[in-house]
Amino acid sequence: MSVLPDETHASQLTSWVEGADGHPDFPIQNLPLCIFSTAESPPRAGVAIGPMLLDLAAVADAGLVGGEDARILRTAAGRTLNSFFAMSAAQRLRFRHILSQLLCAGADPPPMLREAVVDAATARLHLPVDVGDYSDFFAGIHHAATAGRMFRPDNPLLPNYKHVPIAYHGRSSSVCVSGHPVVRPVGQRAAHGATEPDYGASNRLDYELELAIWVRGGNALGTTIPIERAGAEIVGFGLLNDWSARDIQAWETQPLGPFLGKNFLTTVSPFVVTAEALAPFRSPQPPRAQGDPAPLPYLQDAEDQSHGAFDIQLEVLLRTAEMRRSGLAPHRLARSSGLDLYWTPAQMIAHHSSNGCNLRPGDLFGSGTVSGPGPDGHGSLLELTSGGRNPAVLPNGETRTFLEDGDEVILTGWCEREGFARIGLGEAKGLVVTRG
Ligand code: MN
Repeated sequence: MSVLPDETHASQLTSWVEGADGHPDFPIQNLPLCIFSTAESPPRAGVAIGPMLLDLAAVADAGLVGGEDARILRTAAGRTLNSFFAMSAAQRLRFRHILSQLLCAGADPPPMLREAVVDAATARLHLPVDVGDYSDFFAGIHHAATAGRMFRPDNPLLPNYKHVPIAYHGRSSSVCVSGHPVVRPVGQRAAHGATEPDYGASNRLDYELELAIWVRGGNALGTTIPIERAGAEIVGFGLLNDWSARDIQAWETQPLGPFLGKNFLTTVSPFVVTAEALAPFRSPQPPRAQGDPAPLPYLQDAEDQSHGAFDIQLEVLLRTAEMRRSGLAPHRLARSSGLDLYWTPAQMIAHHSSNGCNLRPGDLFGSGTVSGPGPDGHGSLLELTSGGRNPAVLPNGETRTFLEDGDEVILTGWCEREGFARIGLGEAKGLVVTRG
């Protein structure tokens, strides 16, 4: 596993692609993958470089590299990224070095390479992976505590929280790429604690600011991924919005957990920022509070504790229909960080497979809502408005308890560290509409 920065992360590295140097999200130090199509070409794999996309199939066809490198490029250049996801961590690292060398400034790039670059503004981005399975964790401890406090003021965290990286199994068929409309779900709805439901459109539609964690896995059913090997099974990260209908969720969740209050849509960002790109932004897992239990041995690994957390800055922004009409920019509702997670992604992988559950290349984990510790860190409206009791006031005077039709929610994320180029995750956005 590559946890240390190398020459591909050097801040002075520049690209021959115009607009790449200093790009806030996609300078040459990032090289995230996506699936894109254009008017001329069906969906295919690409790598973002500044405002452009590099067509991986065109690069593979150009025969610019040979031997094992050619095989790695060809494997990455699929109709989805699943075959890329199936590669080993060593192959992913080699892929990063091949791309970095092809795109870095210096020698004049061959015409076939120049022709493989497409303007991202002319491309449509697709779901990057054929998602086999999707599990959503609950690792944002500030979210778990704030949400839990509404129901159990004296004991917000359930007894299992600090022992087990808890999750529910989500649904992969409704995982969509950024921009897919958010059709307000209809269902059995009830306020928390109510004993009778009614049926109708959700009145308590909410977002959840989460990290998407893309996983390799590949363990056979009945076998495990030990924590020492789990870090190498993280392919990359994106943004994930676990849209939630709180009134449907409140009624249905007991005793089996989230169902129709969640599975009407999950939005992910189109770019997979690789674990290799994030090497400079790895961090020690923040120490647990005094008195917290130590993780059980199967979740304990010294390297994971020293390098297994990811310092990714996260934001959620809202733009209402009225703000769009007035030409106002989206308003930031909250910010948080990947360091606000109580469990590392490797601990999630080790735990998920600890019973022999098989993970497959392209499986998707949600981190759980990532909330910061303070009042500006609430990663959902449930927290921000105290379950709808304290409306949020927007700069133009509008208020929100939960989402209204015409609201657009934008998740964004990036990494910054002294001495390294800033890299970004892009956006995951969705506009709320009512079923026509
Ligand atoms: Mn969630």
